[in-house]
This record gives sequence, structure tokens and C-alpha cells, in this order.
Amino acid sequence: MLISLHELEQHRVDFQEEIGADVIDFGEDIHQVQPLRSSGHADLVEERQGRRERIQDIRVVGDFSTRLEMNCARCLEPILRDVTGDFDLLYRPRGADSGVKDRTVPHDEAEVSYYTGDGVLLEDVLREQVLLAMPLKAVCREDCRGLCPHCGRNLNIEQCNCSEPLREPRWSALKEIKDKLQS
Ligand SMILES: [Zn+2]
Ligand SMILES: [Zn+2]
Repeated sequence: MLISLHELEQHRVDFQEEIGADVIDFGEDIHQVQPLRSSGHADLVEERQGRRERIQDIRVVGDFSTRLEMNCARCLEPILRDVTGDFDLLYRPRGADSGVKDRTVPHDEAEVSYYTGDGVLLEDVLREQVLLAMPLKAVCREDCRGLCPHCGRNLNIEQCNCSEPLREPRWSALKEIKDKLQS
């Protein structure tokens, strides 16, 4: 859905969208497995640059939710994650920033991005927001044992015979603390 500048010049735009699983490309490792729902509104915000010039920013406010499939960061098994969030974004015409120092920004709070052409594509907004809302390293479960670094076996499923057992530094540090507390 294009949030068009032309339409915004007439009135505020409300949206309530359900975007199918194959519309937005989240990259190779992330698959959307449920419709991405988003609702919100957009309106124009006029900014003054210097004395004369006025520029038109597009402010987009809304929320979203969907379910994604990705791989566990340790054992690489597929896992599902519900991702939700909300946003309040300001889109400034690309190029409007060059060489301007005194500007009144009516919405300090909003994050600033840029648009070109006729407006802002909601799908682009959502793609970025979903990726930002994703956990950096999702694991299938907190105590996932991951893959053996030597033979590659999934240690959640089977134990291998490699000589060095995989020990996470995090756990050994915890054990040290525990030992100290007990002594
Ligand atoms: Zn895992
Ligand atoms: Zn092994």
C-alpha cells in the first residue's frame, strides 16, 4: 500500500492492512508464516527550513504483529517467534536535509527516515520495523546445547564422542559463582 503524498494533501490516511506471507522479503533466514497485520495512520507534517522554504514530512504511526520462522542460533532447528511492535516515524523528502542548520522539527520524538517520489510504501515501513523488532539471537530454548563444534551433531538430540565437551563459558562462570557461594 502506497501512503501517497497526493492523498495526504487532502486528508489524513488511516490504514488497516493484512499482508500475506509472500509479499515482503525478509531475507533468506526469516520466513513470515502468518499474515502481517498492521493498523495506524499517516499525516503530513510541515517543516520550515530557514525563512522561506517549507517541506512536507510524512508521519506514520501504527502497530504490527506477525509470526516468523527462523533458525535457532545454536542448533539451527527452525523455531517460531511472534513479533509485535509499534512505531512513530517521520519521513522527510530525500535531499531536503542538505546544508540546513536551522530547522524547526515539530516532532522531536519521531525517528526520521526519508522518502522519494510519491510517498511511503507501507510494506517498506513494516519490513524495517519487523526486522528491528526481531530478537538478534533467537534460541529454541534457553538451555539449547547447540551443535558440537567438532562433528556438528545436534547435542540436544544425541551425545557425541568428541573428546572436548562443549562448555559454554556462561555456564562455567555460573558454576564458579555457585561453588563460591557453597564453600
Ligand atoms: Zn536450539
Ligand atoms: Zn562431536
